[in-house]
Amino acid sequence: MTKKVHIPIKLTIEHRAIPHLFKNEVYEWIKDQKVALVSGSGKTRQVTDQIIDVINEQASGIQVMTCKENSLDAINDLERRVLEDPPDMIFGVGGGKALDVSKVLGTRSNVPVVLFPTAVSSDAICSPVAVIKMLNKSTSIGVKMPQAVVIDLDLLASCPPRMMSAGIGDLLSNKSALFDWNLAHRAGKEEMNTFARLMADNAADSFLNVLNREEIDQSRLMKTAAESLIMSGIAMSIAGSSRPCSGSEHLISHALDYHCGAKALHGEQVAIGVLFAQYLQGKRDHVEPLLPYYEKLGLPTHYSDLGYTREEMHRAIRKAPSMRNRYTVFNEWDLTDETIDKMLDDVYPDHAKNRYQQTGSSAG
Ligand SMILES: [Zn+2]
Repeated sequence: MTKKVHIPIKLTIEHRAIPHLFKNEVYEWIKDQKVALVSGSGKTRQVTDQIIDVINEQASGIQVMTCKENSLDAINDLERRVLEDPPDMIFGVGGGKALDVSKVLGTRSNVPVVLFPTAVSSDAICSPVAVIKMLNKSTSIGVKMPQAVVIDLDLLASCPPRMMSAGIGDLLSNKSALFDWNLAHRAGKEEMNTFARLMADNAADSFLNVLNREEIDQSRLMKTAAESLIMSGIAMSIAGSSRPCSGSEHLISHALDYHCGAKALHGEQVAIGVLFAQYLQGKRDHVEPLLPYYEKLGLPTHYSDLGYTREEMHRAIRKAPSMRNRYTVFNEWDLTDETIDKMLDDVYPDHAKNRYQQTGSSAG
């Protein structure tokens, strides 16, 4: 049996990647081609202008589309514009939503997509999954992988620290997700793809290795986080699902989105979810070794720092197992309201509050 795995042909992660785009292979691809640029409306719109300055003479036509939200209506609207004057390539420019919307548009219209992430706040920067809003709820759908990803490290350096924390939270979740995948495999519920597992595990490890060095070089840390998130996306493509990077911790984040108002960034919620998932997976022994990393990285350690009340967090834990039909550590526990309360006290003690500054907004 053969199975096709889609990965990007070209990855660029460097300083001045956008001003130097004319030296990039992507520049050759768009010679005399029509390019549609999809971006957010704020800062990412300015990045789009920088890209247009570079590609203006190379492309035969440029169409700019602003995406304010990732709702189905907004996507349908953009798709109509794409169908009226079909581009040869779509450039997605943004922190999250614009990237997801570009992937959906590219998949629906069968046009290759190049992503220009302006923040690395999740593994959406290079994954076969997009999050869109349907009936006011966020839903993940399968999409084609981008043909190339271009990350300008100078842009990332000017991002609010919160975006970076979210990206790292999404990356650390590989560990708890792989634990859950293994449980599902052992319980005979799912096949294990060893290559995808190795990639997702190494993605998290290579980041932790940089972190374990005595002197942390911020620029190196950012580059490694971007590389590791891309490797995570490729692991998902190999597995054919988000399994290697999404387990019980993601179910908690999905429940916070669905049932508690989606008050924080995906990766921030996942970081909080990882602490609870690790607790379920091995009790305290698995949570405590993580805390120094959280402290070093400035990750959130208490749900209240993301704007959630205890009642909401309790609800999220209660609802999490039903968010997806996916076997995780939740299936091995019979959680009562009482045990959830006790666990919330253990995993998120009062002294873990007020350590996180939720400043800066979405760059989508
Ligand atoms: Zn995620």
